Amino acid sequence: MAAEIIDGKAFAASLREKVGALAAAFEAQAGRKAGLAVVLVGEDPASQVYVGSKGKATLAANMASFEHRLPAETSAAELLALIDRLNRDPAVDGILVQLPLPDHLDEQAVIAAIDPNKDVDGFHVINAGRLAVGQPGFVPCTPLGCMMMLTDRLGDLSGLEAVVIGRSNIVGKPMAQLLLGANATVTMAHSRTKDLPDAVRRADIVVAAVGRAEMVKGDWLKPGATVIDVGINRLAPELGAAKGRLVGDVAFDEAREVAGAITPVPGGVGPMTIAVLLRNTLVAAHRNAGIALAE
Ligand code: NDP
Repeated sequence: MAAEIIDGKAFAASLREKVGALAAAFEAQAGRKAGLAVVLVGEDPASQVYVGSKGKATLAANMASFEHRLPAETSAAELLALIDRLNRDPAVDGILVQLPLPDHLDEQAVIAAIDPNKDVDGFHVINAGRLAVGQPGFVPCTPLGCMMMLTDRLGDLSGLEAVVIGRSNIVGKPMAQLLLGANATVTMAHSRTKDLPDAVRRADIVVAAVGRAEMVKGDWLKPGATVIDVGINRLAPELGAAKGRLVGDVAFDEAREVAGAITPVPGGVGPMTIAVLLRNTLVAAHRNAGIALAE
């Protein structure tokens, strides 16, 4: 039987609607909107599109959006001064610096300058540490979105075998921490893993966050496994086409014959990322205003 397709677009739309309603309630109670500041340095076209869609989604969720578009030659001192202002601005609950930054700017130093309590991307080492020791903090949006889809489908993850392929600080590592926190038995695989198909075959949950088109094959999967495909890869264009197709890290057509459920690419994990960013901003606003979040 073909796998259930996990509809990330619909899941994200319902999360955004829920966040929008809670943000309206926050405004009524706090007398101000929850606010998200997004900082973009330079003219990278993909980053411009992301920042534009984050701004629109923020407004649509009844929150205030503060966009700061700075020229590519902005100095580290200028950028840090802006972050300092945003850290101290009571109208700003969340701060997101769009990555990648131009080469002359040190990303780690910039992330370290963000107030951890406004770090809605969850990239600050304080938030990575809070996640590691199980304290409340901000969790990176993409893995948190994956976790929401997993618990929605599977409920209690206790004792399930999970494999996370990829160990980046923004996806793989926090994903593994979340699964561990939910009492799954977690294997973290990466480019030095000796027998990846074997590790995947044991797993009830597979999260692929590698960046290699269709690397995970259908016959690697345990029948009935839940597969979350984070990868976004563009194939070479077919004859006559301007752009190649987008595919994930999992060979979707093969995998859906074996898996119990699978996220498609596009339309799976991708749409969840902005929805979770809005949710993290809503949480930040409640914490900053000392108001309990009724979830
Ligand atoms: P990184 O490049 O930072 O990390 C990739 C990871 O994959 C590394 O840990 C690497 O191992 C591992 N890896 C590489 N080759 C192999 C292999 N042959 N076998 C096993 N593991 C391997 O990527 P990100 O984590 O930033 O992103 C991963 C993918 O997710 C990308 O396609 C990206 O576009 C997508 N993405 C999607 C998002 C969304 O919203 N849907 C958001 C963020 C990312 P090692 O550490 O040993 O080098």
